[in-house]
Amino acid sequence: MRKAIFLDRDGTLNEDTLYPHKIEHFKLLPGVIEGLKKLSKDYIFIIITNQSGIGRGIYTEEDFHNFNNHLVLKLKKEGIEIKKTYYCPHHPDEDCDCRKPHTKNIKDAAREFNIDIGDSWTIGDHTPDIKMGLDAGTKTIFMLTGHGKQHIDEIKGSLKPDYIAENFLQAAEFILKNDKK
Ligand SMILES: [Mg+2]
Ligand SMILES: [Zn+2]
Repeated sequence: MRKAIFLDRDGTLNEDTLYPHKIEHFKLLPGVIEGLKKLSKDYIFIIITNQSGIGRGIYTEEDFHNFNNHLVLKLKKEGIEIKKTYYCPHHPDEDCDCRKPHTKNIKDAAREFNIDIGDSWTIGDHTPDIKMGLDAGTKTIFMLTGHGKQHIDEIKGSLKPDYIAENFLQAAEFILKNDKK
């Protein structure tokens, strides 16, 4: 079985300008390339992202794919492979089972790529990221990038991530220091 990093996208890999969906909104966060490179020997990468901007009518599914392909290609040029992006296009009111913190997408990914959930990690800058990761049985890292700083009290109050990171490189180094090999 393989080990994976389940990555939130906006606010974790790229800057979360409210509902980023155009190439001009795209900006990688500091330490992302370096951190992913360090992790790529031991882990596969899966993006799991809530994209309610589609359900809210702010942008289209095509906009989402254009933006996401741009990110995936940028990483590929650095030798970093994103195995697959799972996304929820629904409005929160639709009560679907693919919107984080629901665990459908992470469980589907684990099945599809033969991933050992217990040896895998979830990284994100919102409480639903951490809740999904914990409920599915991964270890978790909360990012202070993106919206993380605004949610730090919720995180410290109830959910207990394994680590709180200032930037992606710190997150990667923590994982490598703490993985079971
Ligand atoms: Mg996020
Ligand atoms: Zn959904």
